Amino acid sequence: MFEVIIGLEVHVQLNTKTKLFCACPTSFNDRPNVNTCPTCLALPGALPVFNKAVLHKAIMFGTAIDATINRTSYFDRKSYFYPDSPSAYQITQLYTPIVEHGRLEIDFEDGSHKSIRVNRAHIEADAGKNIHDGAVSKVDLNRAGTPLLEIVSEPDMRSADEAILYLKKLHSIVRYLDISDANMQEGSFRVDVNVSIRPKGDEKLYTRVEIKNINSFRFIQKAIEMEVERQIEAWEDGVYDEEIYQETRLFDQTKQETRSMRGKEEAADYRYFPEPDLLKVVVDDAMYEAAVKIPELPDEKRERLVAEHGLRDYDAGVITADLETANYFEQMLRAGISAKNAVTWLTVELLGRLKGGVTVSTSPVDADKLGRIVKRIEDKTISGKAAKEVLDYLMENDTDVDSAIDTLGLKQVSDTGAIEKIVDEILAANQEKVEEYRGGKEKLFGFFVGQTMKASKGSANPQTVNEILKQKLG
Ligand code: ZN
Ligand code: MN
Repeated sequence: MFEVIIGLEVHVQLNTKTKLFCACPTSFNDRPNVNTCPTCLALPGALPVFNKAVLHKAIMFGTAIDATINRTSYFDRKSYFYPDSPSAYQITQLYTPIVEHGRLEIDFEDGSHKSIRVNRAHIEADAGKNIHDGAVSKVDLNRAGTPLLEIVSEPDMRSADEAILYLKKLHSIVRYLDISDANMQEGSFRVDVNVSIRPKGDEKLYTRVEIKNINSFRFIQKAIEMEVERQIEAWEDGVYDEEIYQETRLFDQTKQETRSMRGKEEAADYRYFPEPDLLKVVVDDAMYEAAVKIPELPDEKRERLVAEHGLRDYDAGVITADLETANYFEQMLRAGISAKNAVTWLTVELLGRLKGGVTVSTSPVDADKLGRIVKRIEDKTISGKAAKEVLDYLMENDTDVDSAIDTLGLKQVSDTGAIEKIVDEILAANQEKVEEYRGGKEKLFGFFVGQTMKASKGSANPQTVNEILKQKLG
């Protein structure tokens, strides 16, 4: 039996307005190479100037994972040659990063937790992009010099599932902190996975293989599973030493397998040395005090929802997993409805209707409308069943809840006189059953309720129907 060892490196693009060492904007999707200047083009003589907003965000992250914030940290130069880096080196933090020794808690479905150690988080500059267009390759340097926070875990995860839980929690935290948009498609949250295996009980770490730049949680899960399978097979076939060596692999999404990209460089290959063009990074008291005041994090929000509204821990976890859903939920509650109903209508009814990449934030039915629908159930204007029709209608039509109820003619009849009239008709038409009921066949009560509801086309308030029937049947 084998044990799987996984460590993760995540590059998070920080959402500052300007780049790490110059005043160029960090906006996405602009015409190639317009957001550049002598500094990020690495023209001779141009010098970097550190953007303090980056430091603030890095400290916020360190605080969120209970890490040590190094009040003095340093930049280092990592040399490598690649067309998307005009300077032929990257400015990063190797020896003393801003953030060290944190931890991040992952939550299993059965309610248990596991703490994953975070070795470090350091600030570094992003490279540009190579765009391969048939036989030619083009370089876009708009992204060159964009600030990144590289977050490196210890090899504490033991399965693909644990790795995904870690990544989702990390993703959620940076979104809650609002230090990154963490958009995986646009490359603001890039994951490199280190995978190795060892026989269970063995203490030593074997050869780790790196899989780079996979842009969805689903593919990361798949890539890990495929890579673990490849390593175990090699071990069992007796060719582990020949086939598994330290290298960087890519995940092929169509073939669903990993394949070799390049041999992994050792640190020595990068000729690291302290960056001579920048001063040390000092966090003064004022900056420290301002940055450690972070907003509520997903775990805290979950605990608060459980304590304040009596939600089940599991439901609270679903709602707080991403900030949009959490905000949507809290906005719904402003309609003055029960939290329990809000949970059901959000997680079952609304989420069940969102398809094709539509999220709670882009849903045609916003939190105020959904809250209003629930309110109309609670004040007995409509039945729960009718509310589903209202929601379906509002997913397609841009109007308000009360107009939709009118248009659909779903207003519940609580008017006793009207219901009484229907009940009288039903009883008159079913004399025999009335006798049987009075003779002791009590389960016929449901039949009368059903008939009355049917005759009212579902609009009668079921509670009123029950009361009138009880009274008339004696
Ligand atoms: Zn620039
Ligand atoms: Mn890096």
